[in-house]
Amino acid sequence: MTPVRTRFAPSPTGYLHVGGARTALYCWLYARKMQGTFVLRIEDTDIERSTQESVQAILDAMEWLNLNYDEGPFYQTKRFDRYHEVVQLMLKEGKAYRCYCSKERLEALRTEQMTNKQKPRYDGLCRDLKEPGTGSHVIRFRNPLEGVVEFNDLIRGPLSFRNDELDDLIIARSDGTPTYNFTVVVDDWDMQITHVIRGDDHINNTPRQINILRALGATPPLYAHVSMILGSDGKRLSKRHGAVSVMQYREEGFLPEALLNYLARLGWSHGDQEIFSREELVQLFDIPHINKAPAAFNNEKLLWLNQHYIKTGDPLHVAEELAWHMQQLGVDVSAGPALTDLIKAQAERAKTLREMAEKSLYFYRDVQFDEAAVKQHLTQEAIPVIESMQNELTHLKEWTAEAIHQVVQNVAEKLTLKMGKIAQPMRVAITGSTVSPSIDVTVCLLGRERTLQRLSAALLLCEESKAI
Ligand code: GLU
Repeated sequence: MTPVRTRFAPSPTGYLHVGGARTALYCWLYARKMQGTFVLRIEDTDIERSTQESVQAILDAMEWLNLNYDEGPFYQTKRFDRYHEVVQLMLKEGKAYRCYCSKERLEALRTEQMTNKQKPRYDGLCRDLKEPGTGSHVIRFRNPLEGVVEFNDLIRGPLSFRNDELDDLIIARSDGTPTYNFTVVVDDWDMQITHVIRGDDHINNTPRQINILRALGATPPLYAHVSMILGSDGKRLSKRHGAVSVMQYREEGFLPEALLNYLARLGWSHGDQEIFSREELVQLFDIPHINKAPAAFNNEKLLWLNQHYIKTGDPLHVAEELAWHMQQLGVDVSAGPALTDLIKAQAERAKTLREMAEKSLYFYRDVQFDEAAVKQHLTQEAIPVIESMQNELTHLKEWTAEAIHQVVQNVAEKLTLKMGKIAQPMRVAITGSTVSPSIDVTVCLLGRERTLQRLSAALLLCEESKAI
């Protein structure tokens, strides 16, 4: 059996969209599953729209998602000599021809065809010129005039296109630069791609590409066209629906495993299973179970998966991602608890790492007080609570959540108060608000020194409340 070779071939005209990421993932998964080769090709021939920034954005996103490629990145702009060579070969063999038709002629032809309700297409005037023309010209592929192009789409089944519906495609422009469909063909051929998995917006290009490949004597690869991703309103997913760029998901606090798991499942299924490790995906992924129908993006489900991975992922890896968010927020993580401990304490309370970072600032920075919480909880009545806690914590031998829990219980008993009446003023005193992990865990993570400092400062606030 020929070894499987897949490729992901983005055009660097923007960030990596989640739709593109899903295509990349399917190409990657299939190559890994079949122990084949995954190639990355940057289709940057549209000089005006391609940017180095976009190339970098795509490479960064692939790296963040850990979709490692075995070959490439190959840049089409570096392969112009090769495209030129193939054009010359096709001219020589009569598989392509020079077309001298002026823009005006083509425009007039188009208008006429439109008026006659015909599909606009080149009429083949230069196909069999007796005398070669002169001046500016493009190179067109000599598309077969009759018959059909058939292929068995691995997702959609057999598809068939009539040759008389296909134009004699321009393969090189008048300035000699190759066109999109042509570069794809030469590359898929040279790179010995066996499976082209790509978006269904390319379906109409496929018969043209197959014809050129056949003219070159190449065996066309197998094709699998993946349906698009829709927004919650059933329209094609776009910025209007929220985040669409992979790196924006990172910024919003998603883990790459969660996004990959989500994208794998969006448009592909293995029974009812929702959660897949990377290894499981490699093992279970297959092309026939990719869904023909477009899939709708569901943010809630992605959030659910994200929290699942925050709770169950490798703590060191989750911590590494969280560190990135802390850095984005300008937080010095050496000033507070270890991130792995923080994650344990906060995993139930945050669906994203961004949310976790934002909710954990008081561990690393001075407290920002929520005024309403201060007013409600740092009152005269809180003074004995805070003083007792201060005394007990100062002398506590073992600084563990269990021991701190015992302290809270003792103080509650001593003052004949409910635990909540101890926990809330404590919480406001050391975190600034009424929301945090359980008070024993919070105090434990914050450490003795800072807890005591914050309790002293809170006492002043309680006393001030007296004056009002
Ligand atoms: N460069 C094309 C795109 O970004 C993909 C071409 C292909 O996969 O054949 O849409």
